[in-house]
Amino acid sequence: AKEKGRDNAQFFTPEMANVVTKKFGFEKEINEALAYDQFSLVYQPKVLMEKGHILGLEALIRWNHPIKGVISPADFIPIAEESNLIVKIDEWVIDQALQQQKIWRDQGLVNLPISVNLSGRHLVSDSLVAYVSEKLAQYDLAGNLLEVEITEGVLLQDIKRCIAVMAELKALDIKISVDDFGTGYSSLSYLKRLPLDILKIDQSFVEECDSHTEDAKICETIIHLARSLELGIVAEGVETAQQADMLQSLGCEIFQGYYFYKPMKSNEVALLLSEECVE
Ligand code: C2E
Ligand code: CA
Ligand code: CA
Ligand code: CA
Repeated sequence: AKEKGRDNAQFFTPEMANVVTKKFGFEKEINEALAYDQFSLVYQPKVLMEKGHILGLEALIRWNHPIKGVISPADFIPIAEESNLIVKIDEWVIDQALQQQKIWRDQGLVNLPISVNLSGRHLVSDSLVAYVSEKLAQYDLAGNLLEVEITEGVLLQDIKRCIAVMAELKALDIKISVDDFGTGYSSLSYLKRLPLDILKIDQSFVEECDSHTEDAKICETIIHLARSLELGIVAEGVETAQQADMLQSLGCEIFQGYYFYKPMKSNEVALLLSEECVE
């Protein structure tokens, strides 16, 4: 009883009250951001090295805060992931990306698959698959125009549930990538059990793959692993020709990074896609 009393007392410390207020403020701000169109998407192309063709786009969220300016997702997604706010944000992203697909199609541009980043909480929730199929139907789009990127950590928390949800996504023809591959605590056995399509080599390995033999070896190992499991491979965060050359010599063909394209606004993507059509 004494222990419990102490816990109770702790609950009411000013620090705690401060955290609660902050969280409440954050929730209010996110809801306002959704209500007043403060979020936007930028798109970063994925490039096939050999021909320079764009194979797909990754949607990345930006928060254009009226007072604080542009806030990076690295600063608000992790907080949103602590609650169901992340589901609201991820749903907004899916809706926005698919709406954009419809616009590009109506403009007569080619439709490339757009990948969205999903939080683990959302992946294992009951609502994801229903939401996605509803949105595909609403915008009259095929499932292969959407892909999802999921970080490794998530996959181990509830593997049975992950397998079930992923099977439903695959039934909709949606591809699944493992994001930041190599940075989680993956036992390799999950790669075999889950219906995955692509591994994305984390940019921390790419960064020094041209100067540190250890990083090059890790990249090489991931590339071989992907090959032997018949998974696609994408290198992210490629910033220099040297990195791209090194990765290509190790067997990687699909790249993402500032060396090729930075994340760009939808109108810039439209321009790029219309140029691609002309070629
Ligand atoms: P991520 O999914 O690993 O995305 C890659 C990040 O690296 C992006 O940062 C991208 O702008 C950046 N990047 C791309 N090429 C390069 C490069 O050559 N060099 C460097 N240094 N960076 C590069 P961003 O947009 O700030 O996003 C950060 C993270 O926030 C993402 O990492 C993802 O985990 C999360 N995130 C972004 N958008 C969303 C979203 O819509 N939903 C969710 N749940 N998470 C998101
Ligand atoms: Ca990603
Ligand atoms: Ca990543
Ligand atoms: Ca990352």
